[in-house]
Amino acid sequence: MITFLSGGTGTPKLLRGVQELLDEREIAVIVNTAEDTWLSGNHLSPDIDTVMYLFADILDTGRWWGIRDDTYITHDLLARLGIEEFIAIGDRDRAVHVARGEMLRGGMRLTEATATLCGKLDIQATVLPMTDSAVTTYVKTRRGDMHFQEYWVKHRGDVAIEGVVRRFREPPVATDEVLCAIEASDAVIIGPSNPVTSISPILECAGVREALRRQYVIAISPFIGDAPVSGPAAALMRAFGKEPSSAGTYSLYEDFVDIFIQDTRDPVEILGALRQDTLMVYRGKSLDLAKSIMTLVYGC
Ligand code: GDP
Repeated sequence: MITFLSGGTGTPKLLRGVQELLDEREIAVIVNTAEDTWLSGNHLSPDIDTVMYLFADILDTGRWWGIRDDTYITHDLLARLGIEEFIAIGDRDRAVHVARGEMLRGGMRLTEATATLCGKLDIQATVLPMTDSAVTTYVKTRRGDMHFQEYWVKHRGDVAIEGVVRRFREPPVATDEVLCAIEASDAVIIGPSNPVTSISPILECAGVREALRRQYVIAISPFIGDAPVSGPAAALMRAFGKEPSSAGTYSLYEDFVDIFIQDTRDPVEILGALRQDTLMVYRGKSLDLAKSIMTLVYGC
């Protein structure tokens, strides 16, 4: 089995290749939940949804979120009724949020609700929330703290940020399922997800770093030079006190990573890092990178 740590874009692009090489029952994905939120009474877990929809083969891979060919009848009528949601949720996507909200209100752990949804969607891979308790990423702005979703989705990242904080009632603890998956794996792969908003929240769950130090870990950089392939990672890295580059990314993982992979075009030099074409612009590129990584793990 191989376990991945994932956000909602970079690592799912890699998983798109991996799922062509491995039996999906051999794949576990530990997913960031620090972007979760409640909206109109329903529970959004953007990164879990992207990973589930990928394995269910219904993901909109144009945006890397939401369900392909979804409709927006409910969103439009809600707006007419005066309920302006900050993000346009498709009707089928919303059904998943309604179901998860009901399960959580009924007392299920997020891990159990995710497993139930995966079962209903015929997903063979194991999709694991990093923790069962609520933890949320906020960015610090001059006007006060702002939920990451508000910063990125509502304001499109067009706000100066001065810091990143995680808010929680009790410090997040990795679930037993997460720690067992890491321990039972042949390797753990950290895909090229955002180091600040996707991977660090997982690493901050009690027990994860220690478990990773005992494992064979491969990480792939989401940066080429001082820019991420997409998204707000550069501003977030600066606000997090890190250089927005592969070097800054490596510094967050160096206590447990065995192999660090940078893009062939990356001008930043990291001693001992491997070079690969990491730009997964279409399915074939995802497959090529996945094959290289499987060779590192299984040697063939
Ligand atoms: P989010 O939850 O939507 O923010 O998604 P992730 O955290 O999983 O991924 C976002 C990161 O993926 C960004 O920092 C991008 O630089 C990176 N990324 C996206 N596509 C690629 C790609 O094809 N190659 C590499 N190396 N990084 C990518």
